[in-house]
Amino acid sequence: MVYNKIEIPEEGEKIAVVNEEGDELDVPENPIIPILHGDGIGTDVGPAAQTVLKAGAQATGRDVSWMRIYAGETAREKYGENLPQETVEAIREHRVAIKGPLTTPVGAGFRSLNVALRKRLDTYANVRPTYHLDGVPSPVKSPGEMDMITFRENTEDVYAGIEWEAGTDGVQQVKEFVEEEMGFDDIIHPGAVGIGVKPITEFGSKRLIRRAIDYALEHGRDSVTLVHKGNIMKFTEGQFRDWGYEVAEEEYGSEVITEDTLWEERDGEQPDNAVVVNDRIADNMLQQVLTRTGNYDVIATTNLNGDYLSDACGAQIGGLGIAPGANFGDGLCLAEPVHGSAPKYAGQDKVNPTAMILSGVLMFEYMGWMDAAQLVRNAVEETIISGQVTYDLERQLKDAEKLATSEYAREIVTNIEQLA
Ligand code: NAP
Repeated sequence: MVYNKIEIPEEGEKIAVVNEEGDELDVPENPIIPILHGDGIGTDVGPAAQTVLKAGAQATGRDVSWMRIYAGETAREKYGENLPQETVEAIREHRVAIKGPLTTPVGAGFRSLNVALRKRLDTYANVRPTYHLDGVPSPVKSPGEMDMITFRENTEDVYAGIEWEAGTDGVQQVKEFVEEEMGFDDIIHPGAVGIGVKPITEFGSKRLIRRAIDYALEHGRDSVTLVHKGNIMKFTEGQFRDWGYEVAEEEYGSEVITEDTLWEERDGEQPDNAVVVNDRIADNMLQQVLTRTGNYDVIATTNLNGDYLSDACGAQIGGLGIAPGANFGDGLCLAEPVHGSAPKYAGQDKVNPTAMILSGVLMFEYMGWMDAAQLVRNAVEETIISGQVTYDLERQLKDAEKLATSEYAREIVTNIEQLA
């Protein structure tokens, strides 16, 4: 594709897919990887991640040619719009990309650019690992027990954007339909009302749950927990759970076993190399991750539950400055930290770039660069253990040294060079 405003690096090659299903990648030694710094603190964490990830690639005999792409504030300046088509195309074409946070106004203004990007790219699985790095302060006693990975459905649920504003003709029509034709005539209070629709499809649920089970099998994990609020929302969240069990029972052989079968037929004894599929109600799950942290492994859940749950888990392993994530579609990876654009800290060279760096680690893993991924993760851990950290961790640690974002990134690069 010919780009208008994106500068293509002089060196480097595109990552390509090499099979019909589109999920096997051919990764060159010096790939061109699109990077979107994003809004607010994206201008701080973006360049820091770029430097560290490049150092990780070079230390393992490779390189990365970064290609800057734009959305949000930077796209408004360059293109006069929030989400240019060539940004979406560049990610699609290069298969693997990384982005910083994008601001979404609350209430009025444009709809979420993150949601729009995920929909346009059909990156249907938002994957958020939560593991504890040595030396990271935590509000819980045994943060090391947390080693979970959340697969959050990314394209439907209340995030589908099907909602009508109070006072509009649209909301009036929907209200009349719900009350008069569907018979819910004594539920909506009189007066102004906003209405949203929560679609949960078999297609969307099953492809997400499949991905979570496949991950568990490939990585030797013990269980996949379906998290839902199906006791109340029976035909959406409850159906998500039922479709999950259908996938588990019908699409895998003896390597996947449900918790009921485990107890009914095997007295709770898990066969070697098998994955157990169970389910928990979302509100219970939010306390389970605190009280029985070590019992949970891989989580598959709907969009809104996944957002709440992964932030709560993120708090246990050091907070938003640490928590990484990535969005996956078929043959596509768009890595991004869990945190937002924290506008009050924008441009101050202050915040923690770890979440963005570890999102890059997920991206490297997707590319098959396991050694580079492990090296970067170890160098981050080493830096934190040495007590050289950004403000968010320094304020919770005794005798730590407070570094700026860029200084911290340089320290990680030094550790990469020493560990390589
Ligand atoms: P936020 O930007 O994540 O910031 C909330 C707080 O988390 C910050 O004030 C800070 O806490 C801490 N924090 C976040 N990132 C940090 C980092 N890298 N290092 C250290 N501390 C960090 O959440 P928000 O204020 O609710 O959202 C701001 C904007 O971001 C909104 O427009 C929202 O829609 C958007 N957002 C975007 C994404 C995305 O692009 N994927 C995700 C979430 C939110 P302390 O002040 O206590 O230190």
